Amino acid sequence: MSDFKVHILGCGSAIPTALHYPSSQVVELRGKLFMLDCGEGTQRQFRLQKLNFQRLVAVFISHLHGDHCFGLIGLISTLGLLGRTGDLQLIGPKGLKSYIEPLLKQFCMDLKYKVVIEEINHKEEAIVYEDRSIIIKSFPLAHRMPTLGFTLKEKVATRHLDKAAVDFFQVPRSFYPKLLLGEDYLNEDGELIANTRLTKQGKMAKCYAYMSDTSFNPNALKYLEGVTSLYHEATFMKSEQERAKRTAHSTAQEAAEIARLAGVERLLIGHYSARYYSVDALLNEAKEVFENTIASNEGMVIEL
Ligand SMILES: [Zn+2]
Ligand SMILES: [Zn+2]
Repeated sequence: MSDFKVHILGCGSAIPTALHYPSSQVVELRGKLFMLDCGEGTQRQFRLQKLNFQRLVAVFISHLHGDHCFGLIGLISTLGLLGRTGDLQLIGPKGLKSYIEPLLKQFCMDLKYKVVIEEINHKEEAIVYEDRSIIIKSFPLAHRMPTLGFTLKEKVATRHLDKAAVDFFQVPRSFYPKLLLGEDYLNEDGELIANTRLTKQGKMAKCYAYMSDTSFNPNALKYLEGVTSLYHEATFMKSEQERAKRTAHSTAQEAAEIARLAGVERLLIGHYSARYYSVDALLNEAKEVFENTIASNEGMVIEL
């Protein structure tokens, strides 16, 4: 299995139901965990999916509707009880501090680790996290309050050494780093060996985008360049189009239309309205527009 995957912890909207938990996902890359939204029930889902709390690096909150953030203080408290000492980054739109800081004062005065809260400007694209393996950006979504979408892109080597070729052309080891940066090799006889003869194309970087909550918004397409898998909310069926518009949500078909326009490989839908007992109809409506659609469900692990 790939080392870049997403675990679905919750994919319902607004209120918990017998079928779905509110929104939360965990993206895993090379052993590190990044949480997207933190609705109620997240901790139990962590346990059920055997995810390691200690590997959680950062939590990204899309917006401050309760179905995306009511699980935060419980999670932060539990991490303390489990003996965490390393910082936890908490990243979200303006208002995140005024929501969580009083709760930290009330319940988490004796934490042995620091919660580093960062409020992001929701009106423009921004890099919100970066390390050797991943780059995470936020971008604006169109909802009833400041709301962030996120893209998570793995970092991969663009070129690999062709071992047989570098041996054949007797390229010294000290030149390998330059080869990986794309330089050609000039040998002792003054012959220039093209980089493409000495290296192979590395694998293409996968990129996952998370868009919840949002109305149908083609303006966001410019942030989806290079995205391979897209999670897009699909709260309603097309029969509820008017309601979707009024509440700044999307229908399954609209989610699929964004996937089609963005040219992604795969669409995941979620954030289902509590009115639907089955997601089959939502999935079918999405598939009419974009065939490679998956209806996310709690417990699913999807390779990115
Ligand atoms: Zn929501
Ligand atoms: Zn919302």
